[in-house]
Amino acid sequence: MSNIYCQGCGVLIQTSDKEAPGYTPKSSLEREDVLCQRCFRLKHYNEIQDVSITDDDFLKMVSSIRDTNGFVVHVIDVFDVDGSLIKSLPRIIGDNPIVLVGNKVDLLPKSTNRRKLVQWLRTSAKEAGVNVKDVFLISSMNGDGIEELTFELENYRDNKDVYIVGTTNVGKSTFINRLIKQTSGMGDVITTSYFPGTTLGFIEIPLDDETSLIDTPGIVNKQQMAHYVSEQDLKLINPEKEIKPRVYQLESKQTLFFGGLARLDFIKGEKESFVCYFSNQLPIHRTKLDNADNLYKNHVGGLLSPPNKKTLEIVPKLTKNTHRLSGDKTDIVFPGLGWVSVSGKDITVVAHSPKGVAVSVRKSLL
Ligand code: GDP
Repeated sequence: MSNIYCQGCGVLIQTSDKEAPGYTPKSSLEREDVLCQRCFRLKHYNEIQDVSITDDDFLKMVSSIRDTNGFVVHVIDVFDVDGSLIKSLPRIIGDNPIVLVGNKVDLLPKSTNRRKLVQWLRTSAKEAGVNVKDVFLISSMNGDGIEELTFELENYRDNKDVYIVGTTNVGKSTFINRLIKQTSGMGDVITTSYFPGTTLGFIEIPLDDETSLIDTPGIVNKQQMAHYVSEQDLKLINPEKEIKPRVYQLESKQTLFFGGLARLDFIKGEKESFVCYFSNQLPIHRTKLDNADNLYKNHVGGLLSPPNKKTLEIVPKLTKNTHRLSGDKTDIVFPGLGWVSVSGKDITVVAHSPKGVAVSVRKSLL
């Protein structure tokens, strides 16, 4: 097939990978004006859908933002900050200002102090090298914070185009679909691409006569648990509702299992509260450290699930890391799965997670 480009966004059309930019079913190739499926859905249903790109394409993509005079909205998932904050963003997009949008705030306990969380996000972003102009908390699911955000964006963007950037699964499409519904009763929302020939799959949605909201493909973060578990298990580990923290008073030499996907050993320290923030659906088991290896060996995929016996095959082996905690309230983060919050001095824990999903420690989020 000779190269065909999407009439909407300019991306190179392909018929093999549904998740990648430019996908269209073979049957649509016969049309006169070929649109990729993403543009087709936007045009006919006013609905955006996410596609994903690799690291190399990501570099190309953000570099093309660098050469424009735009405003960047970086959407992250507040339940998976470490997995969704794109640390390389500022190095690549140059001087364009960034606003950080923490989505899925509905998942955090209602008692969450939002002002503190905003400050926490700002500081964490800064420490990761991402200087942001402002931070907003929203729920694209229930609309919380959207009105304030759109109002403030209008001020901030100063008549520039707005680029929406994020890793896959942060809720970027849900967010944009909400914006589309809010700002328009419009018919055909796409015009022609600003980037003909960049073939990267930017989609523009007009904001006014001169400027647009530009949806960029989602960047795949290979560290996310999502890549290592089945779709079925993903439904259990991705919280859908407000998380109810589960509190365990642990003595040293006790272990917590999070399904059969992760494990935390309390090696050394005084009796302490371990506050667990995971999907309410994910079973947590407490056991003695001495029993833990055996329990895992005999019951992973059964009592310790997800994974189940079948999906167990695709989860990488657990690897472990030792962490020493000093006294400030600290989160031990299992990216994409959840975190455990602990305070107390001179604590040693060993965290086990599937190889490739590195556990990290941070100052407590909540
Ligand atoms: P994208 O890959 O970034 O475009 O993400 P999607 O918009 O497809 O959303 C990924 C998943 O997150 C879906 O299951 C959504 O239902 C869910 N989601 C999106 N926004 C929210 C939100 O504000 N709160 C909650 N709880 N879930 C959300």
